[in-house]
Amino acid sequence: MKNIIFIAPPAAGKGTQSNLVAEKYHIPHISTGDILREVMKEDSEIGEYVLETITGGGLVKDEIMYTLIEKRLGEEDCKNGYILDGFPRNVEQAEKYDEILARLHQELGYVIVLEIDEKTLARRITGRRICEDCNAVYNINVESETPEVESICDLCGGKLYQRSDDNLEAFQNRYQVYLEKTKPLLDYYEKEGKVFRVDGSQSIEVIFKKITEILEEAI
Ligand code: AMP
Repeated sequence: MKNIIFIAPPAAGKGTQSNLVAEKYHIPHISTGDILREVMKEDSEIGEYVLETITGGGLVKDEIMYTLIEKRLGEEDCKNGYILDGFPRNVEQAEKYDEILARLHQELGYVIVLEIDEKTLARRITGRRICEDCNAVYNINVESETPEVESICDLCGGKLYQRSDDNLEAFQNRYQVYLEKTKPLLDYYEKEGKVFRVDGSQSIEVIFKKITEILEEAI
């Protein structure tokens, strides 16, 4: 399997789809948000900085991201493909990622974009709940995505929590950051003819089916 980058606005479902693709094709799901949420638990200067930045909905400094990503992509399990969920997030990161790919003798692969409108995203953001043990994603505002038992993960029995940045105030900021910094990446990758767009307002199953069709046709 080639490498995959997911690009989408906040709460569009890239984490959920990344989990499904990772399971089907046995490749690692690398979520920079998940990595940073671990860093922010640390009782250190960097932990505090990451907590503040994520909670406000801004982007963590590029230099920190480069260190985290290059280290992770150099690990053995990335040799046969991986999914990047949340990186690159601006054009500078994409340029740096090209350099990292060249150093690791890896190819760009597919860029999959989930398209969805702002109103739907705002509704999803306030209902999103995440398992603190396995990172499975639920949504109490979407009937088919609610857990069977309130606040408990269907998959592992872990406790569900709400992210500190999953509120309407942080969402406004995150959405603006997406429009200003992340969306220009589409032009960046479009030039290479690697961008595949999927309607992210459909059900999880339908989106996943479209993604597997893209991957299997392009393999
Ligand atoms: P996510 O889980 O992808 O929604 O990311 C949550 C938050 O982590 C973002 O709002 C940013 O504050 C931070 N973050 C994740 N990935 C990156 C990145 N590539 N560059 C900068 N900040 C990031």
